[in-house]
Amino acid sequence: MIRPNLFLLAALLSGGLADGMAQVPAFTHADTLRGSITAARAWWDVTFYDLHVTLDPADSTLRGWNAITYRVTGRPREMQIDLQAPLMVDSMVQDGRRLRFRRDGNALFVRAGSEQRVGTARTLTVYYQGKPRVAENPPWDGGLIWSRGPDGATWISTACQGLGASVWWPNKDTQADEPDSQRVALTVPDSLPAIANGRLRGVERRSDGMATYEWFVSAPINNYAVSAYAGRYAQVSEILQGESGPLTLTFWPLAAHLDTARAQFAQVKPVLQCFEGWFGPYPWYRDGYQLVEAPHLGMEHQSAIAYGNGFTNGYKGKDLSGTGWGLTWDFIIVHETAHEWFGNNITTADIADMWVHESFANYAESLYTECRYGSSAGAAYVIGTRPLVKNDRPVVGPFGVNAKGSGDMYPKGGNMLHTIRHIIDDDEKWVRILRGLNTEFRHQIVTGKQVQAYISARAGIRLDKVFEQYLTTTRIPVFEYRLEGPRLSFRWTRVVPGFDMPMRVKVSADSAVRLAPTESWQTRVLPLAYPEDFRLDESFYVVARRAE
Ligand SMILES: [Zn+2]
Repeated sequence: MIRPNLFLLAALLSGGLADGMAQVPAFTHADTLRGSITAARAWWDVTFYDLHVTLDPADSTLRGWNAITYRVTGRPREMQIDLQAPLMVDSMVQDGRRLRFRRDGNALFVRAGSEQRVGTARTLTVYYQGKPRVAENPPWDGGLIWSRGPDGATWISTACQGLGASVWWPNKDTQADEPDSQRVALTVPDSLPAIANGRLRGVERRSDGMATYEWFVSAPINNYAVSAYAGRYAQVSEILQGESGPLTLTFWPLAAHLDTARAQFAQVKPVLQCFEGWFGPYPWYRDGYQLVEAPHLGMEHQSAIAYGNGFTNGYKGKDLSGTGWGLTWDFIIVHETAHEWFGNNITTADIADMWVHESFANYAESLYTECRYGSSAGAAYVIGTRPLVKNDRPVVGPFGVNAKGSGDMYPKGGNMLHTIRHIIDDDEKWVRILRGLNTEFRHQIVTGKQVQAYISARAGIRLDKVFEQYLTTTRIPVFEYRLEGPRLSFRWTRVVPGFDMPMRVKVSADSAVRLAPTESWQTRVLPLAYPEDFRLDESFYVVARRAE
């Protein structure tokens, strides 16, 4: 996902840094059903979704079925299947028998058949239909997008991060459970190719003017990344010789945009090459990489990224960093491709920890800049995004209620990672950590705490207070100091108790000194020939305050 326009505007106007009171939202019973591992979710583990959907643009309806295969992992009880109103379940079937179910808002509770032994695999099929919610402002809200291409032809797409995949298909709608693989069979009017995640296995043309496109994802996939596209698409196929061998790249611009897209999508190869260098091999060689033009700005749909940035560089033609570097590449290609590692390969169990997806994707923008134009360009980019930080709410949101934290998870999270890189002060180690995260947690679901613990352990530095400060408070650490000749007195203020982040100060144009500030005053004599040369190293995202 990318940050909303309105948020961006508000952030620009506010100028950041004010300590807003966190507003406590009221959560409902429905939020708990959607956002927590309820008892009706905990006893079964999804292994396969077999999703079949017919999309009818004539009346904006869909109908279909999802056969949910799961492993019984605990004592069976009611089963929670999510499907958002106004979509309706027609029936749920197991072992050829229709099951009784009850509806509780957007959740359905069904009593599964009698044979539910721990360790066995079972399948339950949900038949459903209706007129799904239409997305008003995709990708920031969610639903179906029934649009038209420039030639007037039907153009269909989906977006559902946050809101949930159950807005268009029945599933266990939590990030904490992914199937090991998934089929997505889309039936659409046969004049339109339909695209989903993974690889196309076959097309079946039917006598009723419809065609079924059968797509298959061979790896775990988060529900919100499952996507459907249909429109008058052209196809461009390429091969990238990547770290794990040949990787198939397939671009799907609308036919009307083929030439423009071909030129803009030439950026994909260097982006993938740079990210393989930083993060390790692309996570989905078996499923390939696809970039699909969409009637909204963009979304990290796994192996089928939605692209709608107008074939221009920057974020809709703008540079979020204000440095100019953001105009040297296409924001959506860079940001959404980064999510293949952080978000799709490594997925958080709860959207409260969405910083793991967005802070790394944000920092990836800087890393791509660095890969192409050098480390000072990369640093200028991430530092240039600091005015976007609002400090309105903590970056980590409330758990168990499907709620995310502040939009600061983008620029503040990226700057936190840049700061941590400079605390570690060893770029080879930093790359080993970025790549190690993608190996250690490959195709897995994690908590934010696991990611923090991994970074601390591999860095050999306890970073828990650093994470706590930047992720759970709305304060930027203040480095308070006095300078008398070469004598520097310093301490941290406006920090969490026990905050002990190392810091670096410059004492001349090309030399620096590392300090170990705490909340208590310390004094150190610096090798400082000219007091006016003293300054904080701006790689560290802190506020400097000279004490009187
Ligand atoms: Zn994102």
